[in-house]
Amino acid sequence: MNLNIKICKICGLCYGAKRAVDLTTEILKNKTHVVLFKQLLHNKYTVDRLLQLGAVQKNSLDEITKEDFVIIRSHGEAKKIYEYLNCNGISYLDCTCPNVLKIIEIVKNKSAEGYKIIILGKYGYKTKIMHPEVNAISGWCNNPILIESEEEIKNIEFNFEKYFLVIQTTFSKEKALAIIEKIKLKLKLEKKIFEFFDTTCQAQLLIKEQSVKLAENVNLMLVVGDRNSSNTIELFNLLSLKVKTFFIESLEDLKELLAKREIINGFSVGITAGASTSLEEVYEYKEFLKNV
Ligand code: SF4
Repeated sequence: MNLNIKICKICGLCYGAKRAVDLTTEILKNKTHVVLFKQLLHNKYTVDRLLQLGAVQKNSLDEITKEDFVIIRSHGEAKKIYEYLNCNGISYLDCTCPNVLKIIEIVKNKSAEGYKIIILGKYGYKTKIMHPEVNAISGWCNNPILIESEEEIKNIEFNFEKYFLVIQTTFSKEKALAIIEKIKLKLKLEKKIFEFFDTTCQAQLLIKEQSVKLAENVNLMLVVGDRNSSNTIELFNLLSLKVKTFFIESLEDLKELLAKREIINGFSVGITAGASTSLEEVYEYKEFLKNV
């Protein structure tokens, strides 16, 4: 098949995710009993490679033993997890993305200054599934207010005097700014103090920007990544507004598209990937398409 396949100029593993993968890969060369505490990042392809190198994934503290060397994932963890590991003398390496660590620092400081913390992020308002980064940040402040949509604001009682808002790094910036405007207005009417810090991540914004440019010049877009990856879903939703776009989680998804003739001879196909997807995976799919 003759396809014109273009890979987005900026896509795939952001520096925070890459850092977590590189640090873990290094540790695996020197240590045994390396345990990924929950999924290191939202990408099965990459995590599977670490498991093949000898890591084991454990999803609860009950499974951790004293011999384990624990890897804290890129989304971060709540304070109580560090306390547990420290109290029990369990060694660990913190692979939390520096951007998330910065948010944790902010909420710790602002809480100490007497602000009520508001976290804007996917906490599971409708899905009941809390994003691990929101869970981690929440675990560093006292009972924060969690918001993920405009419709929730009218039902929230703002009983404190001052509020400080942070945003999940991979939350849609546009959506966040719209929600912030509403909160600002409500708190102004109630004569409360409101401050915020835009903590959305630049890395994923660059991927979005470049992916949109590519989408404007192809017949269809493929977004490579996992469906539990917040930034990949955001990217998919954005590109779907521009051109026919498909989510590719595995080679099987690609084969299915070909079987359904969604990709046909002469098409130009754009490929991009979320910030938790390795470029290795992206190039594997490109190679496959080249040889169809
Ligand atoms: S998307 Fe941004 S915040 Fe999230 S891991 Fe990557 S660099 Fe860090």
